[in-house]
Amino acid sequence: MARSKHPAWEQILGAVESPARAPSEIQEHIRTCDDCAVVAEEARRILESLSAEQLPHPPRPLVEQTLAALSQRLRDREASASARLQEELRALAARLREGWQAAAAALIADSWRASPALRGSAGTGSRMLIYETDDFSIALSLTNDPDSTGRSLIGQVVPRQGTSLPPAGWVLVRQAPEVVGERLTDLGEFQLAGLAPEIIDLDLVLGDKHVSLHLPSGS
Ligand SMILES: [Zn+2]
Repeated sequence: MARSKHPAWEQILGAVESPARAPSEIQEHIRTCDDCAVVAEEARRILESLSAEQLPHPPRPLVEQTLAALSQRLRDREASASARLQEELRALAARLREGWQAAAAALIADSWRASPALRGSAGTGSRMLIYETDDFSIALSLTNDPDSTGRSLIGQVVPRQGTSLPPAGWVLVRQAPEVVGERLTDLGEFQLAGLAPEIIDLDLVLGDKHVSLHLPSGS
């Protein structure tokens, strides 16, 4: 069966979660496609981990959004989606089973709250924000996109002394109804464009730490 005919991750997850409500062709596909059977098995394990309540910390919506963002990113790279999806899901499932610790982040610098002399001319340039947790400094630069009402976000997560940057970090931006996700580079950098102008909720998944940031609204 052609790759493009594989059901989406959400459909597989839905079929595993509520078999009675899943379309029969999806059920049939999972039964007959080795690749999707592996994905379904992983979905089953993730759901079991979540329902076993061994994981007090990961908020369920974030877990769902993480998985949705993962699957979206992987669908975008269709050529190797199946193998990559399995690899990513296995890694993510392992992390979910170990649980996440919520880490509080404090806003310690905001260029828009600096004195007018330091801000430069209003309405131009970027808004620089720096957040800190016990383990990480998170530097963000928010810029209004020139040709639209959207905003761009460039950021970097830097480990503070005594810590190192965990591999395979993710940044997730919740803007209903979707979640935009991006994997951090090895240097902890990320870049997201076309974000909504209103308040942004940002989630960083860094090893076993989950950092939620509430960004100030635009303009
Ligand atoms: Zn399939």
